[in-house]
Amino acid sequence: MRRIKGLGELPHLAGKRVLVRVDYNVPLTRGLVASGDDAKLRASLPTIGHLTERKAKVILVSHLGRPDGHERGLSLAPVASRLEKLLRRKVLFVRPDITADHGAEDVLSKLRDGQVALLENVRFYPGEERNDRFFARRLASLADLYVDDAFAVAHRKHASNVGVTRYLRSYAGSLMEAEVHNLNRLLKRSGSPFVVLLGGAKISTKLPTLKKLLKVADEVLVGGGLANSLLRARGLSVGRSEVPRQEVMAARRLVRSRKIVLPSDVLAASSLSAGARTRVASVDDVRRDEFVLDIGPETTRDFAARIKRARTIVWNGPMGVFEIPQFSHGTMSLARIVAARSSGRAFGVVGGGETIVALEQTGMSDYVDFVSTGGGAMLEYLSGHTLPGIAPLLA
Ligand code: ADP
Ligand code: MG
Repeated sequence: MRRIKGLGELPHLAGKRVLVRVDYNVPLTRGLVASGDDAKLRASLPTIGHLTERKAKVILVSHLGRPDGHERGLSLAPVASRLEKLLRRKVLFVRPDITADHGAEDVLSKLRDGQVALLENVRFYPGEERNDRFFARRLASLADLYVDDAFAVAHRKHASNVGVTRYLRSYAGSLMEAEVHNLNRLLKRSGSPFVVLLGGAKISTKLPTLKKLLKVADEVLVGGGLANSLLRARGLSVGRSEVPRQEVMAARRLVRSRKIVLPSDVLAASSLSAGARTRVASVDDVRRDEFVLDIGPETTRDFAARIKRARTIVWNGPMGVFEIPQFSHGTMSLARIVAARSSGRAFGVVGGGETIVALEQTGMSDYVDFVSTGGGAMLEYLSGHTLPGIAPLLA
């Protein structure tokens, strides 16, 4: 396995401008980052600290949400204020368009050695997700060196994590390094049975990885909205739980795998809201006017038994709409089982934005051997893929 270049290998930093790709894609509550939602910001502090202590000028870049062009509601300004509180120092927020003449450069020229700036949401620029060469070069021109600390987007090939590396010497931040180190550890000692617990909203984003995971894992237990697509592909009804046709088509190619374990029962609800009428239904007995919003108790017991037998456990994706307490039981029960089985008999890794939120609600996060900040990125890494965002950081 090739080595990743870490912060220790950066050249002399004093006075150097360092562009740092971070993952500050956090939920905003009434336009603010709530204190319980700033885990990603806190996770970036070691890398920022390393650079500022050595008197570099730190220029942070991140995306937030999926804006369609410039969307005021998805500005990173509230993130800058939260970061100021965590760092206990001023963060220069760079509002002007970096592709326009001078504006952003003028603001950045005020940045002193050891200070921190944050650029506006990089997905406001169409060139970011297209990995446009001119945009990447423009972004790179703001700095002398590049550090990538955004593992969660490493499976994407965007300008701010792949494009810029053509123009700047590139290194992994400490979070990125820890991710790679721990996931390699799992790959090296992945004992059998290797059980993957997979849930979440949609299958389309996770389908390519699911295919590859089937090669390394012994069992893939599927719940959440993901399971709905597979159940539909088996010809079962999931009522009003919307499954786009494409998703069903995609799922068809997978349902035959013997390694995939689907729910046998589900929680069927009259609506997608707190206070909905609910009942436990067998998967062949969901009514047309019902939504499928969680796995059922029989499935929870079955998945739990399989997780207990595992020596390697990987979990990504909630089993249901756990944000609403009524539909959280499957996710919360299995979160506790995954945590309890990890750091002991099994090696357990949990990853993904919403998945980590669920795990934290159990108060058992510390039991898990490694909590990855990546959902899709983690799954792809574990399926043996060199991620486009990591390749440029290898020695
Ligand atoms: P992660 O961020 O951990 O990788 P995803 O983003 O893939 O997870 O999916 C998380 C979302 O999936 C949650 O917000 C949850 O409400 C939703 N979800 C889970 N099960 C269902 C379901 N049966 N129907 C609709 N949405 C679901
Ligand atoms: Mg998510």
